[in-house]
Amino acid sequence: MNKNSLKKIPKMDQLLNRFEVIEELNKTKRVYVIEALREALEEIREAILSEKTDEFKEEDILDSFYRILKSKKSDRLKRVINCTGVVVHTNLGRSILSKKAALKVSEIASSYNNLEYDLKAGERGERYSHIEDIIKRLTGAEAALVVNNNAAAVMLALNTVCSGKEAVVSRGQLVEIGGSFRIPEVMKLSGTILREVGTTNRTHKNDYIDAINENTAALLKVHTSNYRILGFTLEPSIEEIVEIGKENNISVIEDIGSGTLLDMSKFGLPEEPTVIESIKKGIDIVTFSGDKLLGGPQAGIIVGKKDLIDKMKKNQLLRALRVDKMTLSALEATLTEYLEEKDAIDNIPTLKMLVISYEDLNKRAVSLKRRLSKIDGLSIKLTDDFSTVGGGSMPLSKIKSRVLSISYGKMSADKLENKLRENNVPIIVRINEDKVIMDIRTVQDRDFTDIYNAFLNISRGV
Ligand SMILES: *Cc1c(COP(=O)(O)O)cnc(C)c1O
Repeated sequence: MNKNSLKKIPKMDQLLNRFEVIEELNKTKRVYVIEALREALEEIREAILSEKTDEFKEEDILDSFYRILKSKKSDRLKRVINCTGVVVHTNLGRSILSKKAALKVSEIASSYNNLEYDLKAGERGERYSHIEDIIKRLTGAEAALVVNNNAAAVMLALNTVCSGKEAVVSRGQLVEIGGSFRIPEVMKLSGTILREVGTTNRTHKNDYIDAINENTAALLKVHTSNYRILGFTLEPSIEEIVEIGKENNISVIEDIGSGTLLDMSKFGLPEEPTVIESIKKGIDIVTFSGDKLLGGPQAGIIVGKKDLIDKMKKNQLLRALRVDKMTLSALEATLTEYLEEKDAIDNIPTLKMLVISYEDLNKRAVSLKRRLSKIDGLSIKLTDDFSTVGGGSMPLSKIKSRVLSISYGKMSADKLENKLRENNVPIIVRINEDKVIMDIRTVQDRDFTDIYNAFLNISRGV
């Protein structure tokens, strides 16, 4: 180890006087600059101590400083480009908002608003009132309420209707949703006693009827969003469960999971239960997510009988689960699109990505390929592949899609994937047979330029 080299390491003050550093101080938070300098100095000290370096220039330290500072400066939560073909990607923020919804959020969030003010009466109003009418209109329900997410919706519904009492659930419906939502646990937290009936694959009408006693408060039906039990199976229909509820004077609650307001089967997608259908068939309370197939913000929507929803509104738990102005404004803008089916399909990104035709996907894939072909060393083939809905919806469905299958020179697909992920706008791809796969379905038009620039940088060794 060279003691002279150690002595040559500049002092912090010396670096702080360099114009490059002063320039950064004018642009960036001071704490980041100081930390980056300290870490850059520490790096060189360690390199000398471990005899990896002997000679160094102040410029080398500045290079490290820039690299460290860049990562400190960049936001932790950032925009990414989704090339996975999973439309409602839970790890990538689920649904993306429509332009209108995003603009509305920005306007409402940065100004005072009538969140809890009744403009007609000139007095205190109710936070949930703005959204209730449109939800009622779209679902046919008597009343509606919005909370933080569907987990909160299930929790509030159970706590209000069943606390200290039993809810009957089929064994085939005791689901776990990614991100640790487990029906038995949520029930326990809500103070509800779980009464399991039937078997994993078959639950009969009589299993429900036999389980009912004087302490039963509800029958709970849970949509098996992310799995299917196939083969020798049986679950009573919604109509049968509603009838059992009526005959025994107990509520029927349905956690429908994603919930859609449109019948997706007419677009060639598998059937998902719609909220409208459940309400029409007489379910007392239906809960669903705002950011799955609905295509809105994270939210839990509760619809159903007015007397039960009124009770939920008085439940203290609601105060802890309540949504803010940003959620409400995004949800209102999203739901407004549903007043005309065509507007919903055209303007809500989640729906648009799911119903786009194969021909249109191909056109977009060709256009991205043409753009990328200008880059030397990049080899691109267009092939057919499958996208998935994601978000625990339609677990068995694969939607035919058009993808770019990419390789770059001798670089492995893993390395290329890694470089794309480290791009300033991270690009998330799949790998298949040592090729990087970009599914055009989830790539937005505005992403094309960023993808081009990322590959250009890779080809230039940046
Ligand atoms: C997704 C899902 C949930 C959880 O919804 P969040 O909005 O993520 O809280 C609960 N139940 C079912 C059946 C689901 O599919």
